[in-house]
Amino acid sequence: MEKIPVHLKNRQSLVIVGECFNNLKRYFNDRNTFIITDRNLDNIYKERFPDCPVYIIGPGEKSKDLAVVGDISRWLLDQGTDRKSFIVGIGGGVVCDIAGFVAATYMRGVKFGFVATSLLAMVDAAIGGKNGVNLDGYKNIIGTFTQPEFVICDVDLLLSLPEKEFVNGMAEVIKHALIKDRSQFKRLEEFSTPVMARERNEMEYMVGHSARIKATIVEMDELEHGERRKLNLGHTWGHAVEKVTGLSHGESVAIGLAFSAGLSVKKGLMTEAERRRVLELLKTYELPVMSPAGPAEVLDALIKDKKREGDSIHFVLMKGIGDVVVEPINLEELKNFAINEQ
Ligand code: NAD
Ligand code: ZN
Repeated sequence: MEKIPVHLKNRQSLVIVGECFNNLKRYFNDRNTFIITDRNLDNIYKERFPDCPVYIIGPGEKSKDLAVVGDISRWLLDQGTDRKSFIVGIGGGVVCDIAGFVAATYMRGVKFGFVATSLLAMVDAAIGGKNGVNLDGYKNIIGTFTQPEFVICDVDLLLSLPEKEFVNGMAEVIKHALIKDRSQFKRLEEFSTPVMARERNEMEYMVGHSARIKATIVEMDELEHGERRKLNLGHTWGHAVEKVTGLSHGESVAIGLAFSAGLSVKKGLMTEAERRRVLELLKTYELPVMSPAGPAEVLDALIKDKKREGDSIHFVLMKGIGDVVVEPINLEELKNFAINEQ
């Protein structure tokens, strides 16, 4: 078991990798605790839930809605929840976002913790204290920065995660290795078979390393003024790909990572051999590296999205493998690269 403390200005949050889900009840007083989960997790794991009232949301992004926040808050009120109560979100990124948002706002905030059940939640969504919901199709437009008391990552729960969702999370794992951990990148190259089989030892190692990278970056910049921008690696281009193609988030980020690697070579920050390694690793984990939509269309979506930033946008580029730099890129230069040189 690995405990990763996340030291922040006002409090400490703890990410616990390798803890068993069955020990969840050790982390709170169950008489005044309320669980939020989604229907899939409830179906698979309800026998192992602590004996607390449970609110079940529909699975998927559509639950990240203010109406659902209202429904859960009404339920909490009916249950007699007060400011001393505790909320536990058991689920993937959607449950963590919504449970964290409800906890941060109900009666101006009650304490909360997460059991992260998807790979993406374990290494990304559950860590860092951002909790958001969507509005009118705009993602995470309403939200808070409030840290969970704990994030439990029982990697055995990954065994029931659908393959597509696992691969989705691998895009963020690869992103973290590219940002800060050359040796994990190498390990992902060498150990793809046990990783894809989700073997416990390999999962604990991988989730531990990846979660630590996110935690370290969040500690340096909790409120996203600088360092935390590095986490956008692959996401500027990736979000535009996601919008245009409807590919999953992880697939789109993988295409964004490949794009960023290409631009980094063009800028003289990365060698062609390193770029090839990035593409190979993404393919090894069954992630795409080429957008099915053309660059002009993706660029159009990107510019629409970033129009407030002016003539240039902040882009995260790779300085070899295991280091990144955030640079302003002129939109004309980006266009030239995307359309003529990619
Ligand atoms: P998700 O929560 O929708 O989970 C994906 C699917 O897998 C769901 O159907 C879920 O029911 C199922 N599932 C989860 N764990 C399972 C398990 N152990 N066994 C079987 N099924 C399981 O999606 P996600 O990919 O985990 O998270 C995506 C969300 O996270 C997005 O809304 C995104 O905006 C958010 N996010 C937030 C942050 C943040 O900092 N707050 C960061 C990254 C992503
Ligand atoms: Zn992402």
